[in-house]
Amino acid sequence: SSRYDGKVVLITGAGSGLGQASALQIAKEGAKLSLVDLNSDSLEETKKLILEAVPNAEVLLVTADVSNEEAVKNYVNQTVETFSRIDAFFNNAGIEGKQNPTEDYGIDEFRKVIGVNLNGVFFGMKYVLEVMKKQGSGSIVNTASVGGIRGVGNQSGYAASKHGVVGLTRNSGIEYGQYGISVKAIAPGAIMTPMVEGSLKQIDPDNWQEVGKQFVEPNPMKRFGKPEEVAYLVAFLLSDQANFINAVVIPIDGGQSYK
Ligand code: NAD
Repeated sequence: SSRYDGKVVLITGAGSGLGQASALQIAKEGAKLSLVDLNSDSLEETKKLILEAVPNAEVLLVTADVSNEEAVKNYVNQTVETFSRIDAFFNNAGIEGKQNPTEDYGIDEFRKVIGVNLNGVFFGMKYVLEVMKKQGSGSIVNTASVGGIRGVGNQSGYAASKHGVVGLTRNSGIEYGQYGISVKAIAPGAIMTPMVEGSLKQIDPDNWQEVGKQFVEPNPMKRFGKPEEVAYLVAFLLSDQANFINAVVIPIDGGQSYK
């Protein structure tokens, strides 16, 4: 039997990148999945990928904006109505926002990034922890970033939101450990997903692959991470095997955060 036989796993930002790769990996390990994204077409794409790999997978799709508290309540309720429980939650949806030095960083941009990356993660934990507390078990992985551990620059909203995600993780982890629930964060470095491709294209649309090479030069491993590498970590951290790992942030960055 596998780590995820009979388990129900909820994933936000499941239409792309890290959320999609993790959904696929965890589906292969036997979980029932509730997948959330703002973009319903990309959710369908993820479901298609899963069903190609696991034809009998049970997959619920919920289109929702995680920055909207009512929408979050709704995706949690729909998951519980469909599958009766939530064993694991990958609280992952996020945006990067426009890059600018602090003096030029717009307040609307700041609010938008905080709304998705920080409010969205908070709302998700708030309603999922209520379900998990009743169950007396559960695990949550929040997606932080290298930019939530150290300064990266030109990312006021992103830095504030991801440092905030680390704080929320520590706070809830110490509150809910007594109920058998663990809460952790991952801090990915540069992983080649559509998000990163988009920000490289912002810098130079015609020459973005070259920009990418320069971008990873300071990384000890001098390469981008792959979404699959993050998916393997997430699949472990969300499983019962990682229950005693609680209230911490785990980098997956080729050594960038603490070099
Ligand atoms: P991505 O853009 O490929 O995927 C993010 C998904 O989230 C998209 O499908 C998007 O539609 C969805 N989304 C965006 N806003 C939403 C909202 N308001 N409500 C619901 N869904 C929403 O990006 P990714 O690289 O897979 O990023 C996933 C997470 O990982 C984000 O939190 C990001 O900050 C974090 N992260 C990524 C990297 C990286 O290098 N790729 C590094 C560090 C952290």
